Amino acid sequence: MKWYKALKVRVYPNAKQTEQLNKTLGCARAIYNMMLHERITVFEENKDDRQKLYGYTYKEVSAYKKEYEWLKEADSQALAWEKVNLLHAYSNFFTSLKGERKGEDVGFPKYKKKKTKNSYTSSLVNRNMAIDFNLKRVKLPKLGWIQYRDQRSSAEGKIKSVTVSRSTTGKYFASFLFEYEAPVVIKKVVTDPEKVVGLDMALENFYVDHEGNTPGFTRNTRRYETHLAQAQRRLSKKKKGSQNWYKAKHRVALVHETIANARADFNRKLATELCSKYDAVCIETLSLKGMSRALNLGKSVHDLGYANFVSRLKQKAAETGTNVIQVDKWYPSSKLCSNCGYKNKALGLTDRNWTCPNCGEELSRDENAGKNLRNVGLDLLGLGKPSKLVEKIVSLSNFGS
Ligand SMILES: [Zn+2]
Repeated sequence: MKWYKALKVRVYPNAKQTEQLNKTLGCARAIYNMMLHERITVFEENKDDRQKLYGYTYKEVSAYKKEYEWLKEADSQALAWEKVNLLHAYSNFFTSLKGERKGEDVGFPKYKKKKTKNSYTSSLVNRNMAIDFNLKRVKLPKLGWIQYRDQRSSAEGKIKSVTVSRSTTGKYFASFLFEYEAPVVIKKVVTDPEKVVGLDMALENFYVDHEGNTPGFTRNTRRYETHLAQAQRRLSKKKKGSQNWYKAKHRVALVHETIANARADFNRKLATELCSKYDAVCIETLSLKGMSRALNLGKSVHDLGYANFVSRLKQKAAETGTNVIQVDKWYPSSKLCSNCGYKNKALGLTDRNWTCPNCGEELSRDENAGKNLRNVGLDLLGLGKPSKLVEKIVSLSNFGS
């Protein structure tokens, strides 16, 4: 089986390369917007005539290039990719409409803006791209060799494509997609209950495991969040559109970037640590929509951060053969006593500690939830003491994936 992995590095183009890079970014954005505009117009004009609408032949990339000579200055592969991207955006929109999209719902394709993150993709053709780990430089189509900064010294597999991007803070990145033959990973056989961990997602501490441990994450983010608040306050005091306003805006974007990087790094390390320490990790399935509605937090950064962590964890688990057991979100993990299985219907969202009326066990909310999730996992793995817990699970998804 073929696997894909990306390697993203920050690149430092010289003045000439920067100009060419910006040109391709601009052309990619322009052709995407023109193709989208064409589709919207054709739809508006023919929406009552299905036959004409479905039979319509849209302009190819080559036709656009003939019409707009300046597009030829861009990396041609990048322009071809924009059509793929647009069709992809449409298909995501339609599957969302039908309720068939796996991930979050997406809306109608939007025009690309210059101010947001811009990117283009290029496929490998005749050795037009490469990465030289010794000299710390990458070769990109139409740009030649560019220095990069990164610690990694090798990557497995063959390069298939590269995505070049410019962040809102004006930094340039090259993300290479490597294809490699997947090693056969043997799923870990779980025989030791000590090697099974249950994690309950918690707002303040990211998660609490079945022993009450939390990852040391909060302090760092809190510090960055203070920086962010400061930068945002400064921005709000500047006159919109002024030189100082742009400077302050850039400052805010930089702090956002630092936070995102710190989170990604944290997620990676945490996933690696959990997969090396444990044979099975039991977590809840997430419903971001339901959760943000219930807690009335809007789309909090935390929710997204946790979802990102879960996908990292699954990826690392697939590579290491670790079992990830996801317990359905409707399983009342905080209301059940992890000692006897009694369901405390009266438990409110704000009750942190409670005593089980049935067995008298002193329970801390998050730790108890982690224990319950772990108990489900242990039962499924055949390591638990026989209990009624499993009967109470509505359904289980993604067992072992
Ligand atoms: Zn109890």
